[in-house]
Amino acid sequence: MPWIACELHSHTYHSDGRQTLKELANGAKALGFECFALTDHNTMTGLNDKEAVEQETGISIISGMEWTTFYGHMVTIGLTDFVDWRPAGPGDIHKGIDEVHSSGGIVGMAHPFRIGSPICTGCFWEFKIENWNDIDYIEVWSGTFPSIKTDNDRAYRLWTDKLNEGYRIAATSGRDWHAQEQTDDPVSVTYLNIDEGEGTVTSRTVHALAAGKASVTMGPLVTLEILSDTSLYGIGDCIPENDRSNTYKAHVSIDFHLRKGIWEFPEPNYTLILIGNTGILSEQLVTLDQPNYVFEIPGDQFLWIRAELKGTVRGVRTLIAFTNAIYLNR
Ligand SMILES: [Zn+2]
Ligand SMILES: [Zn+2]
Repeated sequence: MPWIACELHSHTYHSDGRQTLKELANGAKALGFECFALTDHNTMTGLNDKEAVEQETGISIISGMEWTTFYGHMVTIGLTDFVDWRPAGPGDIHKGIDEVHSSGGIVGMAHPFRIGSPICTGCFWEFKIENWNDIDYIEVWSGTFPSIKTDNDRAYRLWTDKLNEGYRIAATSGRDWHAQEQTDDPVSVTYLNIDEGEGTVTSRTVHALAAGKASVTMGPLVTLEILSDTSLYGIGDCIPENDRSNTYKAHVSIDFHLRKGIWEFPEPNYTLILIGNTGILSEQLVTLDQPNYVFEIPGDQFLWIRAELKGTVRGVRTLIAFTNAIYLNR
């Protein structure tokens, strides 16, 4: 199944963006994206040109909307219809989430720890979440060069805490892209592993994200597979109880060639980390001409596992990429 490069959070003139849908599409194409979600604040009118722009630029556009309220911003994608955000008070976000789900969409917490009022009204997430199973994804990386931002770090830890508590929630990046401005910052990508079967690219990307088949990066694509005695599991999969092994083999692949020429880190000293609910399971230096790594992992300990890639960007040792998790059913 192919991995598709997606941008999941963007704005046009229809809210506070300073770009047309076509300018956004051309900008996304130039950065090697194959699809992007338009998530204007509280409106879907920017999608009126969707088909025409898709045809003209050859890039797929996912319909979405960012619920922009005093109590938090929630990104929704895959909606077939506008879902009214206005009745959502601080205690009843679940009603809104239910409506988005019944309209075929999924929901993510947008930049949950970005500083709120008076800097950015409602940007900090305050909605009370009664049931974390309702949250499809958390935008753990927001903005450009996201890995070094402390609010993103906090979101990444929230995601990890929820995985440790046994929830299966996806993690994404979103640039919160408002204008075609030049930047030297690394730009992150959410790669989604889509089915080759039926349906539009939009419906298949939404389906992939709902299933946690996502890998996030500012550079190379990192993918993870776990092999039991009989089966192979990919990112987002859950190993069933009847496929218990004492040990599993984790296969990690790093693809340095995707979007080649669009991103570059001049100091190629990468470390690959395999991490789960019990902490770091393994750590290994990466050689650029070696794309595949195999780790043996104990089967009795883990609830979830993901791969992380660290590297040096502008002299800072930082997270470059991370996969979503593979789970073990308990
Ligand atoms: Zn927002
Ligand atoms: Zn936004």
